[in-house]
Amino acid sequence: MERVDGKCPQRRSKTKNCTVIFHGDQPMKLDGLSAFRTAILHFSDDPTKVGEKESYTYFPDGLLLVRSGMVEKVGPAEKLLPQLSAQTPVTTFPHSLIVPGFVDCHVHYPQIEMMAAPGGQLLEWLDQYVYPVERQFADPHKAAQRAEFFLDELLRNGTTTALVFATVHPASVDAFFTVAQNRRLRMICGKVMMDRNVPADLTDTPESGYQESKTLIARWHGKDRLRYAVTPRFAPTSSDAQLARAGQLLHEHPGLYLHTHLAENRDEVDWVGKLFPDRSSYLDVYAHHGLLSRRTVLAHSIHLNTRDFQLLHQKEAGIAFCPSSNLFLGSGLFDLKTAEAEKVRVGLGTDIGAGTSLSLLRALNEAYKIQKLRDHVISPFKMLYLATLGGAKTLDMDDKIGNFEPGKEADFTVLDCDATPLLAMRMAACRTLAEKFFVLAMLGDDRAVAATYVMGRPAHLRDRSVSV
Ligand SMILES: [Zn+2]
Repeated sequence: MERVDGKCPQRRSKTKNCTVIFHGDQPMKLDGLSAFRTAILHFSDDPTKVGEKESYTYFPDGLLLVRSGMVEKVGPAEKLLPQLSAQTPVTTFPHSLIVPGFVDCHVHYPQIEMMAAPGGQLLEWLDQYVYPVERQFADPHKAAQRAEFFLDELLRNGTTTALVFATVHPASVDAFFTVAQNRRLRMICGKVMMDRNVPADLTDTPESGYQESKTLIARWHGKDRLRYAVTPRFAPTSSDAQLARAGQLLHEHPGLYLHTHLAENRDEVDWVGKLFPDRSSYLDVYAHHGLLSRRTVLAHSIHLNTRDFQLLHQKEAGIAFCPSSNLFLGSGLFDLKTAEAEKVRVGLGTDIGAGTSLSLLRALNEAYKIQKLRDHVISPFKMLYLATLGGAKTLDMDDKIGNFEPGKEADFTVLDCDATPLLAMRMAACRTLAEKFFVLAMLGDDRAVAATYVMGRPAHLRDRSVSV
């Protein structure tokens, strides 16, 4: 049992990895000041850009202070504890690490039920598995059920913000945002636009896609912590007329996101060349319709040339690197080194159902291996940056989430460094901080997530025997 000071606590609640200690006899005030004590790590910038030492702050025995859902302060426990009143509840997590909530920059919530479906590469796999499942999301009841399950799983994996594909049905977006709003989550989602090259009952039209998106934007964009993304599936499934309407939506509603796929698979790239013969590249299709901005996130972006990366930099568009999905479908090895050299923002995406895990720790494991195959080594610090502040920057949300600067929203994840016997044994043998972070990223997964907090409140506790 950990003690936070010399006083004898009046009340205690205990789970396997979490001890909540109340100093006085006051009940815990959820909207008052709360404190969380363990090792704490967060980033202020990209280690690749500013150098490792300048990129992060680490407190081996830290205290995170949260008031009314927002970060008030973070620092050494020794310094901050004496400043707390006796009424402030302090939650202590032994052998743990608090990091900002993970950010998933590309994921499809309707596809959670067809994860791990064996098959060919992208285009065949879409026909065989994805479209039959997405068809079911016309049913609001089904969509609501899946949205609840998906968000439970996301939180169980320590992810607190995601950029999410729904389906072509407006009901799928309403269901997702309703559930996310009830959980006070910061989420981005949008109705898929696709008017060709998919089964007829899954198509919209340039006009219906535009009108339905407009209605959803009015209903959800900017409501609480929710934001809307205009979401053409990818260039092959939208006509020029539809992509033009997507551009019109962005023009009419400043602040919207644009979320789509780019250059995932070689057959797809060849197909785009045939469908859009007047465009100089796949990326140029999106550029031509005014779809590239600071709030654009392009999933995959594997088969690009240096000119494409330069255009992405010029337009400030971001990339979602989806290592698990890229390996599963055999799509290719993302060129992170060139993206870094050309100063393009990159975050991580799990991209389920093609990805095989919702864990961003698992994504880091596979990202590391992909980059090794490209003769590029990702440092342990860069890995944890990508899963937190790097994702927040890619989503242009780093003014709200991504680290523990005072005033930011207090979404955070508590990683249990002893989650499995192997992890505990390996951690004990680590000699440096970098090695510890590397081991956590390589061997960790959902089992390592002891708790996930949203706006300072517990949204997932691995051991549910006690609610804090
Ligand atoms: Zn995807």
